[in-house]
Amino acid sequence: MARIFLSLGSNVGNRAETVRKAVIAISQLTRCVLIKESPLYETKPVAGPLQEDFLNQVIEICCDVAPLSLLDSFQSIEKSLGRLRAERFGPRAIDIDILFYDNLILHDTYLTVPHPRLTDRLFVLCPFSDIAHDFIHPVRKKTIGTLMHELKERVGGDQKVLRIEG
Ligand code: ADP
Ligand code: MG
Repeated sequence: MARIFLSLGSNVGNRAETVRKAVIAISQLTRCVLIKESPLYETKPVAGPLQEDFLNQVIEICCDVAPLSLLDSFQSIEKSLGRLRAERFGPRAIDIDILFYDNLILHDTYLTVPHPRLTDRLFVLCPFSDIAHDFIHPVRKKTIGTLMHELKERVGGDQKVLRIEG
C-alpha cells in the first residue's frame, strides 16, 4: 500500500460541505483507506483572477491503486461534485491534487509527482505540516516542516492562511 498525500481546495458554493463530500468519496474508493485529515484552512487565492477565498485541507490515504488510475478517480469525484473545467487557477467547487505518492518521482503528461508547486504554497504546507511535518520531500530532501518555515520566511505575510478548525 502506498502512502499518499492529497490537497483539497474549494472556493465556490458551500465550501466546507464540498470538501467534506470529497473526503468521504475518496475514503470510499476501493483499495483506499483514509489515514489522516488536517484541520481546514481559509486562504487567499495566490494566482488566477480575482476570486473568493478558498478552504483548503490536506489528507493522507493508504492505497494500492496506480497513480494515473487514482488521478482518474479524483477527476471523476471533482466532476460529480460540480467542478466545471474552466480557467486555469480559476474558481472551483473542488480541486483534488496528488502531492506525494510514496517517494515516487513521476513526470507524465497528465501527472507530475511530487506536485511541482507544493513548495510555493502555504495553503498546502501549513495543513500538511499539521499532520506529517516529518515527511521528507523525495526531491528536495527536506521535511514538510522545514519547507513550510523556509517559505514563511520567503513570503512573509504575502500568503494569508488561517486555520479555522482543529
Ligand atoms: P490545478 O490543480 O493546477 O489548478 P487542474 O486541477 O485543472 O489545475 O489540473 C490540471 C491538470 O493537472 C489535470 O488535468 C492533471 O492531468 C494535471 N496534473 C499534473 N500533476 C498533477 C497532480 N500531481 N495532481 C493533480 N493533477 C495533476
Ligand atoms: Mg488540480
